[in-house]
Amino acid sequence: MKAIRVHEFGDPQVMKFEEVDDLHPAAGQLTVQVKAAGINPVDTYIRSGAYVLKPPLPYTPGMDAAGEILEIGDGVTRFKPGDRVYVAGNLTGAYAEQLICGENQAQPLPENVTFEQGACVYIPYATAFRALFHKAKARPGETLLIHGASGGVGVAATQIARAAGMRVIGTASTDKGKQLVLDQGAHLVVDHSQDGYENEILEWTGGRGVHVVLEMLANVNLKRDLQLIALRGRIVVIGSRGAIEFEPRAIMGKEANIVGMVIMTTPENEMAEIHAGLVAGLANGTLRPIVGKTFPLAEAFKGHSAVMERGAYGNIVLTA
Ligand code: NAP
Repeated sequence: MKAIRVHEFGDPQVMKFEEVDDLHPAAGQLTVQVKAAGINPVDTYIRSGAYVLKPPLPYTPGMDAAGEILEIGDGVTRFKPGDRVYVAGNLTGAYAEQLICGENQAQPLPENVTFEQGACVYIPYATAFRALFHKAKARPGETLLIHGASGGVGVAATQIARAAGMRVIGTASTDKGKQLVLDQGAHLVVDHSQDGYENEILEWTGGRGVHVVLEMLANVNLKRDLQLIALRGRIVVIGSRGAIEFEPRAIMGKEANIVGMVIMTTPENEMAEIHAGLVAGLANGTLRPIVGKTFPLAEAFKGHSAVMERGAYGNIVLTA
């Protein structure tokens, strides 16, 4: 089979498309014929060598995929060959024609969801679900600011929050991205690249501010978020790409709760709860992953450049 292999950390061009051995599962594992793999920003941080976790070289990137089960190992009871699945983490890398994952890393992919959409479920949707319900303890009727709503996590959060009865404000920086955010159900969209968008948010909330912020770029926005939240508001730091200086008194004054998360460290019982919610939402059409761009597996390097560019539009997917 073919796979992307990284032999040294570096720029997107270090990803090489190579012939490698077919994969066979051990006990408790599955081999999946990958139809589509999702690209997430974290894949680029790992590939560059800048991330806290560095896989031993060479390695195949990718945590998100969807496909059909090729072979099951001894003791596997939930799946059989031919079943459609989405994969939430894996043991061998998703940017490949085949991958191996543990039985508990695979989830059934409902018939109404394409493989390309299935490749966008784990990191974007599980992160949005965990940020909203496990971290922010979001409630119906509350007002939510999704600071970065046009990308993978933001689109997922918009759909989930609307289904849960929240009032949703999303941000984006292009006309296409802003329209996407509205199409996913946001009540208001503002442009985070324009000065003064904070005033639009405060006006829309009658000066009270928002109950919850999901923050995709904390190094740019955390100080601003503390102005935008209501008293006892909650801010979930999902993404950050640098340092920020601000006055901690702002946290005291708002009795604010700032909480961080990393989806890969979610406890198993809480991840099971997340997947139960996601599989149900996919099956009933509440959750509709948006595939903004696709590239052939061999051109993974193009996807890694695209995911770091401004003007996000849902997810970027590799097709095998
Ligand atoms: P993405 O698809 O690339 O989307 C990035 C989003 O950030 C877009 O909506 C983009 O909007 C927006 N953005 C750009 N500049 C911004 C600004 N100044 N203020 C607010 N938003 C801004 O990425 P993603 O997959 O949604 O992930 C978002 C971030 O969360 C990334 O940093 C990623 O590494 C991180 N993440 C963390 C976890 C975790 O477990 N903690 C999980 C998943 C993702 P425009 O392009 O329209 O400007």
